[in-house]
Amino acid sequence: MSTLLEVSGVSVTFDGFRAINNLSFRIGDAELRAIIGPNGAGKTTFMDIVTGKTRPDEGRILWGEKSQSLLGMNEAKIAQAGIGRKFQKPTVFEEQTVFENLQMALKNDRGPFSVLFYKTNPRDQERIGELAEEIGLSDQLYRKSGELSHGQKQWLEIGMLLAQEPRLLLVDEPAAGMTPAEREHTTTILVEAAKTRAVVVVEHDMEFIRRLNCKVTVLHEGSVLAEGSLDHVTSNQEVIDVYLGR
Ligand code: ADP
Repeated sequence: MSTLLEVSGVSVTFDGFRAINNLSFRIGDAELRAIIGPNGAGKTTFMDIVTGKTRPDEGRILWGEKSQSLLGMNEAKIAQAGIGRKFQKPTVFEEQTVFENLQMALKNDRGPFSVLFYKTNPRDQERIGELAEEIGLSDQLYRKSGELSHGQKQWLEIGMLLAQEPRLLLVDEPAAGMTPAEREHTTTILVEAAKTRAVVVVEHDMEFIRRLNCKVTVLHEGSVLAEGSLDHVTSNQEVIDVYLGR
């Protein structure tokens, strides 16, 4: 698997406190990866540095085949380069239908003025259909998004991000607040999505991570504490101690 994202020796300090401490790791092209770690481990800050929200004090963040540096690029440029981020709370347009939300996401992908000149063409209709299928909302296309369940809104937002064709999708706690059936469906969406692009999932729910069946990175005090299968990392004594607060 070729490397898509390489974080190397990155540190972030907030008021003298090292939230990220000499962090290094790689994400492969079309890889599904889970990131876990106790509260304060640096998971959110990691996503902030990759998406350009927070600038590291030191280290390198390299992207794509050409190992392009993401440092110095703003959030919009990084999104354009192909990194999408799903925050924990879904932010869909509640007054619009599922179809319209997906349509807006496609428009957004075409630059700042595209909204003014946009007309739905058959290719977009088809793409919206495919996206709805991917997120399991084909039978809800003409429903107002505000009427969807919490889980369905989360899936719609994932669909809106997929519309922008990211090569890497960062997803923050996708299973939070979901029913078991919704969690299961979310697993399917993410596993399918990771067949054609990299997906990094930050999540607390270990059962959910088990179903993702992917490599897990454990962060602690801003560094990688362990990496490997879920069984491998959860049998690591240091990881057990950190989770038990020892
Ligand atoms: P996680 O997402 O794993 O819970 P965070 O990345 O949110 O961890 O935070 C890592 C550490 O950095 C925590 O100790 C947190 O209090 C601290 N931190 C995060 N953001 C800031 C900030 N803007 N200013 C000061 N400290 C921060």
